Amino acid sequence: MTRHVRKIPYTKPSITELEVEYATDAARNGWGDHCYDYIYRFENAFKQYLGVKYAIATSSCTGALHMGMHALGIGPGDEVIMADTNWIATASPIVHLGATPVFVDILPDSWCVDPEQVEAAITSKTKAIVAVHLYGNLCEMDKLLAIGEHHGIPVIEDAAEAIGSIYYGKGAGSMGRFGAFSFHGTKTITTGEGGMFVTNDPDLYEYVLTLSNHGRMRGQLKQFWPDMVGFKYKMSNIQAAIGCAQIERIQLLTDLKRAIFLNYYKYLSGLPIRMNPEPKGCTNSYWMPTFVVNDGISLKRDELIEALKSKGVDARVFFWPLSSTSVGGRKAFEKNYLSESIHLRALNLPSHHELCRKDSSFVSSIVRSWIERHN
Ligand SMILES: *Cc1c(COP(=O)(O)O)cnc(C)c1O
Repeated sequence: MTRHVRKIPYTKPSITELEVEYATDAARNGWGDHCYDYIYRFENAFKQYLGVKYAIATSSCTGALHMGMHALGIGPGDEVIMADTNWIATASPIVHLGATPVFVDILPDSWCVDPEQVEAAITSKTKAIVAVHLYGNLCEMDKLLAIGEHHGIPVIEDAAEAIGSIYYGKGAGSMGRFGAFSFHGTKTITTGEGGMFVTNDPDLYEYVLTLSNHGRMRGQLKQFWPDMVGFKYKMSNIQAAIGCAQIERIQLLTDLKRAIFLNYYKYLSGLPIRMNPEPKGCTNSYWMPTFVVNDGISLKRDELIEALKSKGVDARVFFWPLSSTSVGGRKAFEKNYLSESIHLRALNLPSHHELCRKDSSFVSSIVRSWIERHN
């Protein structure tokens, strides 16, 4: 007899009849004259939700970043400063453009880029700063924007993990020269695969719109006439239909993420750990509940992941420092102490929208007894 193990996945989308209804409608009717209906509707709903002037739906966040960075003129010989602790998708467009990602260290509480290190890493080649709001946690945007302004360098926001996070009244992704979002199946809202480019800059919008359409300018009357070499990173109408349903449900979806985090926070209280912060003036949408054990506390991360897995719980490692991988780029300074150490002391906990209180209590009790037993 095999013992039944209840599986607790790390993430999975929240799909209701509404998503099915819209996607079905798009599959049935969204062709010919209607082939962009859901795309425009999704872009408009997204703009309204975030409070930005322009939005372009894309096939991924990576594509949105690639086009936006290209539009800012980032190219061979240029440098782009970003946190060493990151997902590869933020760095790969920089590398594809022939520029160099320059990795600096993170802050101990938010695990996001350290503004002081950003400023110290600026050279005559620096073309942009990327603020990645990691796991829903917010970068110190006031400082980063001031540094950018002072040096005449644009700040880009990668808000793939932070839809719903709010910084002094402004949505993550709405504050930089442009913002990029992801609707990959693991993210807070999904279209299967997909992304969004957002900006308040009309010229940048127009340029990225042209790039996103094989380099054909809006209003170009000649058919099949490219005005420049562009990209093909469009979202399909069927994906956008799912996105329309998700953005209608965004408040619920982010509320659920917050509730899941707060349950973990409660169940893990008293342990020598730090979890995602929510500083004054900020709302954290807690895409990924994460804990880091304090310095000197033993975690035995890989063994804990195995122990959780044996009980059906899918936990994940914290992002590796990209400078330790083979993606290229360089460190601004000799050591990124926190990026190089925190990932060994950290874990992402399951947080799909249907995770109930009992699940988070179960996961927390395994983590609690593990940490207590090994310290
Ligand atoms: C998921 C993610 C991306 C990439 O999103 P895609 O839609 O898969 O291209 C980029 N940046 C961060 C921080 C992410 O978490």
